[in-house]
Amino acid sequence: MAKTKKLKSAGRFGARYGKRIRELVAAIEESSRAKHLCPACRSKKLKRVAAGIWYCRKCGIKLAGGAYTPNTTSGKILVKVERLAKATGVEKVEEVKKEIERSPEKTVGDENQ
Ligand SMILES: [Zn+2]
Repeated sequence: MAKTKKLKSAGRFGARYGKRIRELVAAIEESSRAKHLCPACRSKKLKRVAAGIWYCRKCGIKLAGGAYTPNTTSGKILVKVERLAKATGVEKVEEVKKEIERSPEKTVGDENQ
């Protein structure tokens, strides 16, 4: 009913469920109970409140993240994609605006004349 050297917090399961699963549980519990780096104030005070909810004990920010870690690999990819889409979308809108301002009546075919 306590922590063991090999399986840490998963030692509470005794000999049940198999070694591999107990190792996975121990790794997840270690990460979810640890203090993480806060993205707002850069201090190591981010604690898990509930699944996907993280709270910084220094600056008081509450943010959504992964269930057991504040950042997930798929979440990082999503942030990158969103940033890229925003950047390219804004550029295209500006290009279209400039194109309209330059030649309001001209069409693409008239450029050769
Ligand atoms: Zn903070």
